[in-house]
Amino acid sequence: MDQELRELYQQVILDHNKSPRNFKVLEHITQEADGYNPLCGDNIHIYLDVEDGIIKDVSFQGSGCAISKASASLMTSLLKGKTKEQAEKLFNKFHDLVTGKLGDNPDVDELGKLAVFTGVQEFPVRVKCASLAWHTMMNALHDKKERVTTE
Ligand code: ZN
Repeated sequence: MDQELRELYQQVILDHNKSPRNFKVLEHITQEADGYNPLCGDNIHIYLDVEDGIIKDVSFQGSGCAISKASASLMTSLLKGKTKEQAEKLFNKFHDLVTGKLGDNPDVDELGKLAVFTGVQEFPVRVKCASLAWHTMMNALHDKKERVTTE
């Protein structure tokens, strides 16, 4: 990844951390889940409004580091209007990206906005921060009651 791209990605992450999208409690909640990353202290709660297999709305609350917050913010903005299957596909893509399976120069056209997390794979501790919102969202989507923990 070249330096310019790295800096651009960094800017997007900082922006989402500063002004997180969908940082609220939904009025109509069908499913929700809690997630915790003890390594960093990130706490997250995901709210979903799912109807007929489609994510009508999604939001989050919580506190944590810039990466965990930016990841939740970006995730919620990507998931609105998606089907359950599409959400699962995005989760898998994101997971492959941050665990380095797509390499450090992944296909940006295919990843879209998720590409901003490409650099995370270099920092194993940060992988957990970045994935927390996604794992928590998956638990909410599957209506699992236990709290997600990255340990
Ligand atoms: Zn963190």
